[in-house]
Formats: sequence, structure tokens, C-alpha cells
Amino acid sequence: MRCHLRCRPDLRPGLKSAGGRRSSFRAASKFLIALTTPHKIEATKSAIRKGRKTIYEASFEHEGVFVKVDILNKGKKGWNIYEVKNSTKLDDVYIKDTALQYYVLKGAGIKLDRAYVVLLNKAYIKKGALEIKKLFISEDVTDRVLGQQKFVGEQIPKLKAMLAAKMPDIPLGKYCEKPYLCDFKGHCWKDLPEYSVISLRGKGIDKYKLYESGIVHLADVPAESLNKDQRLQLEAFLKKKKIIDKKAIREFISTLWYPLYFLDFETFESPIPIYDKARPTHKIPFQYSLHYIKRKGGKVYHSEYLARPGTDHRKELLKKLLAEIPEKACVLAYKKSVEKSALNLLAEQFPRFRSAIEKITDNLRDLMVPFQNRAFYHYKMKGAYSIKAVLPVIDPTLSYSELEIANGNMAMVEYARMNSSKDPAEIEEIRRSLIKYCTLDTLAMVRLLDKLQTMSK
Ligand code: SF4
Repeated sequence: MRCHLRCRPDLRPGLKSAGGRRSSFRAASKFLIALTTPHKIEATKSAIRKGRKTIYEASFEHEGVFVKVDILNKGKKGWNIYEVKNSTKLDDVYIKDTALQYYVLKGAGIKLDRAYVVLLNKAYIKKGALEIKKLFISEDVTDRVLGQQKFVGEQIPKLKAMLAAKMPDIPLGKYCEKPYLCDFKGHCWKDLPEYSVISLRGKGIDKYKLYESGIVHLADVPAESLNKDQRLQLEAFLKKKKIIDKKAIREFISTLWYPLYFLDFETFESPIPIYDKARPTHKIPFQYSLHYIKRKGGKVYHSEYLARPGTDHRKELLKKLLAEIPEKACVLAYKKSVEKSALNLLAEQFPRFRSAIEKITDNLRDLMVPFQNRAFYHYKMKGAYSIKAVLPVIDPTLSYSELEIANGNMAMVEYARMNSSKDPAEIEEIRRSLIKYCTLDTLAMVRLLDKLQTMSK
């Protein structure tokens, strides 16, 4: 469903004047209204007239609100709304979406019976052909949707009045990113200084409240209002300094041993499982990079795997990985939960390899720990500790910015493109980019550990 009333007051309370950026909400709304498609409404009416029992993207308008219902199905007592979500959990936002559809359809004169949110069934495991009835779960949300009808009816005139008025002057807020990333973030946030109050990380003080109170620059945030981590971020920024806790770094290094393997997976997630033994939510690794050092001070070696397009590569990947990592090796990952969960899922899908996989997961250590614990912190990390935040300050000679693929999401998209391509030259080009990206992830780990070892002395 798409609704042109994108910025809803229930998600952004208080359209009041504040010292923040001016919202582009009105411009956004006008743009989205222009997308209202009368021919789709006509096509829906025509399908109903012809006696169709199931209509996809059934389109309606009422009180100037345009909605598209994912699936509209005619039952014995009336039409049923099915709102389909790429999710395994029922979220309150989905109820609001469905409530608005229900309101518009009822207003447009459609005799409605039930409203459902269709979710992916995370318990479903593919075995042979897809079993569509098992893959999805339909949650009957009719009562909750009915309970929201008064609220929806009250909001529409308010939002229309807002659309007719001048651009509302509202501060930036959590709503710029949740429940959905706003398309206008690039515009509204562009004038924020690099070190703004919004760059404060962690769950301490509400940075948006500070922003609303008129504090824009990080330097103007009162230190006494912050929690320990946020205060450290502020103090490091004010003094433009880095923090090196040698003892904590040494403690971390003492948990590692040789041979030492640096592992990074790239994974994809398909809502509809492609392979047998996979569930809708499974993250499937399609690539890994492995740097390794056999003994302290020894040479650094590299190995990699990237699945060939159009194959169920899981066993091949697993066998190669298990053959490459010795049983007693220390395995380092950055944010190890990703590698651990991918390995655990492979163990579930290929129980024959479970004990070998468990040896790796038992020996898995996390290079993120010293950065997360602030054993090392640099003010340019802006409170973050992802590898992309840490690498530029530890080793500026290595950079993701020059690469065609610069993050895991892009890698996933490019892998999908490689799988659908028929052009050998294009496939080869994508392969090269994927290998470059994943290799940098583990090479970065090698350098980070090297620098930590130097710092600890
Ligand atoms: S980025 Fe934030 S302030 Fe700007 S239009 Fe979106 S929600 Fe409104």
C-alpha cells in the first residue's frame, strides 16, 4: 500500500515551530499526490464489475486519500483485505497501514468483511517445491483495524489542512528514519554540521530533544547531561583526541592465538527461500574472504570463495571453508554475530558438518570488542565502532570509498545482479568487484589487529 499522507502526525507529534530544519513534508506530499493514478482506480472498478474474486493492487480513493491494497479477495460475507509484508513479525505500523486501507475502501462503498496482515512464516523450511500456504501466515487484524477507524477519520482533515498550509516548520526527529527512512533526509539533513548533536551515539540522552531545544553543534551539548559513552564521545571531540587503553588492548590480544584466521562472509537474504532446508529469514553466505597467519610474526596468506551464478553453492562453500580453517585455529571476525549465525544456519541445513562447524564457532573471536569497549577510540569515529568507522582512523591507506561495492547491502544487490546476468563480461566485472570488497574486509582486520598490537606495547 502506498499512501500520499506519508508523514503522519501519529508518527511525528507536534507540528510546531522549532529551531530545526524546515521540513520538506509539503513538497513531498505534493509529489506523492501527483502519483495518484486514476486509471488504476478505474481498472479496479472494472475488475469488480466483471466479477473478479481476487484483485492485486486494488486501487481506491476516498476523501482525497489514495490506497492500493496488496490483495483484495471476495469472500461470502464481503471483500477481505490482505496487506502483504516482507516480515515475520506483526508491527503496529502494519495495523495503521491496513486501518487506512479499510477506511478508504469502506468510504469508497466497498462491502468489507475481514482485514489480514500476511507475514512470512519463519518456521517454514523449504523442502522440494514451495508450499505457498505454509510459507505465509495471515493474521486477522480486523478488530484492531476497526479500533483505529475513528483515529484515521480524525487525522485525514488535519493532514489536509497541513498540506494546504505553508511548509511546516518542524525539527529533525527520530521519524526521519523510523518506521521508514524518509526520502527527503538528504535534503533536510544536508546543512547539519559534521559534528552535530545528532551525531551523538548510544541510548543516553535524547539527542533530538536537545536539537529541538536549539542545540545543533556537538560542542554545545552540556557534558553533565550525557551517559559515560556519550561523554567520552563529546570529550574526545572537544580535545580532538584519541584514547588508547593499553591494558584493555593487551587483555583482548591475550584471548587470541595462532594460527589466526580472519573471516568475513557476504550473505543474502531471500524472503522466499530459494534452496531446500532454508527458511524465509535465513541469511545465506555466498562469499567469504579469509586472510590467515600461521605463526606470530609470520606471513599473511589469503584465500576466498565466491559462488558461481545460478548454483546452490552452500555445500561447496562450506566444504572449502572447513578444509581451509584448521580445527584448532583462532578465527577472528568483525561483529562475529553475523559469521556465527551464518555458520549455525549452515550447521542446521547440513547436520553432517555440524561438529566441524562448531569447532569454528567455538574458536570465533570478535575484533570489534576493543573498539566497542573504547579500548581504542578516536574522535573521528563519531561514537561508532563499525569497521567502516574504525578503519579510516587506524589505517587511512585502506579505503572503501574507492571501491565499486562499498558495503554489504551493495554486495548483496550486485550478487543478485550477477545471478540474473547473461553477459559473461558483466558477470566477470561483478565478480571482480565482489572479491575486491570482501578481501578488503579481512585485510582491514589484519591491519587493525596489527595496529592494536603496536599500540599495546
Ligand atoms: S527528513 Fe525528516 S524533517 Fe525532512 S521531510 Fe523527512 S521526516 Fe520531515
